[in-house]
Amino acid sequence: MNFNKIKEDINYLKSKCENFTIGKSLLGEEIYCFHLGENVGKQIVVEGGIHAREYISTLFLIEEIKYLLNKKINGGIYIIPMLNPDGVRLVLDGANFIQDEKLKKFLIDVNNGEDFSLWKANANAVDLNVNYDVFWGQGKQNVTKLSSANFIGYYANSEIENINFLNFIKKIKFDGSLSFHSKGEVIYYGFKLKGERLKKEKQIVKELSKINSYLPVKTKNSTGGLSDYLSYYYKVPAFTIELGSDLLAHPINEKFLPEIFTKNKQIIATFLNLV
Ligand SMILES: [Zn+2]
Repeated sequence: MNFNKIKEDINYLKSKCENFTIGKSLLGEEIYCFHLGENVGKQIVVEGGIHAREYISTLFLIEEIKYLLNKKINGGIYIIPMLNPDGVRLVLDGANFIQDEKLKKFLIDVNNGEDFSLWKANANAVDLNVNYDVFWGQGKQNVTKLSSANFIGYYANSEIENINFLNFIKKIKFDGSLSFHSKGEVIYYGFKLKGERLKKEKQIVKELSKINSYLPVKTKNSTGGLSDYLSYYYKVPAFTIELGSDLLAHPINEKFLPEIFTKNKQIIATFLNLV
């Protein structure tokens, strides 16, 4: 697997269904969003590849778009398969694609070497999924200095990939969100929720869990995440799904895609019906 293979797959999908770019990454890669189904009715937002080494979530969403192409969908599904293309490229190709020698040296220094296979951040060494402005900096695993993983950034919503995402969701109407990560086979739900909304999320997560047998876990100790943000400010059901067994090592590679896809292919369409 290399970055070019993912780009080829995304280019193929661009000829098959409605798509647009939500903007560019720090290093100038377009961040594509695909829309499946109808423009009327309920809409959900689905995203993956925000954590670079968890690019199996991008591969899963590419397969999922192909799978959903010919399905009847009641409502619509926005899918952003790769929110952090620069990070995914670092994991798959290393830093040699970076033209700017200063930036390349900076990243190799932060990473402590040229093997980027465990890189989680973007090309600013910021972990995008702890950078959103929702209880920012209060997470248990937060790191406050440059790092290949878990660095929250110097301020909330500082990263262009996140800014693009936030601008995109401002322009659409949506009723729920799924964020795909790896690993652990769990579904996180209920960020800061009590009462009726918690009850509804519990009902939904129970149904999703019947499909993939993943364990529902109420979110705690996490802040600044994309699902956290959407749940807190847009007040929609927003879940984070960790693909792949915890027994596997990061990064989970394409060998495990068929098994992950079989377990999870019904999740997105089911979620749309439940929100
Ligand atoms: Zn993750």
